Amino acid sequence: MVNSMLHFIKKSPTCFHAVRNVAQTLEQKGYVNLTDGGVPEKGGKYYVTKNGSSLIAFRLPQAEPHGFMTAASHSDSPCLRLRDTAELAASYVRLSSERYGGLIHASWIDRPLSIAGRVLVDADDRVESRLVDFEKDMVLIPNVAIHLNREMNSGVKYDPSSDLVPLYGLGSAKGSFRKELAALAGCEEEQLLATDLYVYNNQPGTVWGAEDAFVSSPRLDDLACVYTSLQAFLLAKEAASVPVLAIFDNEEIGSETKQGAGSTFLADTMQEICSALGLELSRMLRQSFMLSCDNGHGLHPNHPELADRTEAPMLGSGVIIKHSPRYATDGVATAVFSQICKKAGVPLQHYSNRPDQAGGATLGNIANTKTGMLTADIGMAQLAMHSSFETAAAADTAYMIRAVQAVYETALTVKGDTVTMG
Ligand SMILES: [Zn+2]
Repeated sequence: MVNSMLHFIKKSPTCFHAVRNVAQTLEQKGYVNLTDGGVPEKGGKYYVTKNGSSLIAFRLPQAEPHGFMTAASHSDSPCLRLRDTAELAASYVRLSSERYGGLIHASWIDRPLSIAGRVLVDADDRVESRLVDFEKDMVLIPNVAIHLNREMNSGVKYDPSSDLVPLYGLGSAKGSFRKELAALAGCEEEQLLATDLYVYNNQPGTVWGAEDAFVSSPRLDDLACVYTSLQAFLLAKEAASVPVLAIFDNEEIGSETKQGAGSTFLADTMQEICSALGLELSRMLRQSFMLSCDNGHGLHPNHPELADRTEAPMLGSGVIIKHSPRYATDGVATAVFSQICKKAGVPLQHYSNRPDQAGGATLGNIANTKTGMLTADIGMAQLAMHSSFETAAAADTAYMIRAVQAVYETALTVKGDTVTMG
């Protein structure tokens, strides 16, 4: 289970690759791609994508459905995004980039990094999108020697414009990056029209420590939730509701893009389902539930003082439900999710920010401005969030799958403030 998650993450260096890999798995299981048109029918299995970096999958029951049971996660992770004109040539060739999301700068320094993403190719009268992944070690961001900066161990502030520029080659490599890129994309250099390329950590994930308790990998936030919610979606037995798997791009930069959770992608897809089945969207949404699946902070072994006094989850002790005025979780959602986890035998832990800390945002509230579903923010406890190499507990992977599966297999009947689960 954990190893297949690490394999999925390794194959998914960017949001585009993650969505392609999920789509391929769905196709193998008989899901029909409706991105370019087509009407869903009762008993069918479908998916749609947006921008190649967001995806929504769903199954329609034979009987009239009861609501949507949704698990949403995000396909993007903090990294460095390359400019279309990337080469900065002088004594060395470096690649011009900027930060994507709130990455921990130091974790990107002094480690081999690779490059992946999509390139837009001039193919006669068409603009063709091709996914690329160099896979090999391509660039590195070198630290300054301690002899040249005696303050290196006193807390270094990295300036993104000078300190975070990836080194690609010696001066003699001038002009070769686009050549390498064109060869990888299977086209001539002149055919390269534009790029969406990202620098990523290509170190494989690993299971480690006493009793193989820990799992470390790049992009655990949030590909661990993409992977576990996909498994739960595929394992779930048919219930009275429509199971929905939603994977959004751009959570790390605020979700307000055409393919982000702030877009109309989810609401439009749900409306299309309702139109095809002759259902009223607002009635369906009233009987719906959403899990906003994104990892949260586990108790740090070296810094327990950063955690809340009472709601500080431990790695390996179960799924976490996150509480904060910035999250979508409320008392009703907490009660419903607690009951579902109890019935499924999944331990549940509560997370709150230390009262003087704001914590991060999630996509739950943002998606809800368009759909207004009862929502719980949940995830796996992890350490070093937004590092290029993050750590969680191996055992929580299975807990997460079981909890999300149990939600997919539940139907809610909401009458006023009373929720009946069946
Ligand atoms: Zn996240």
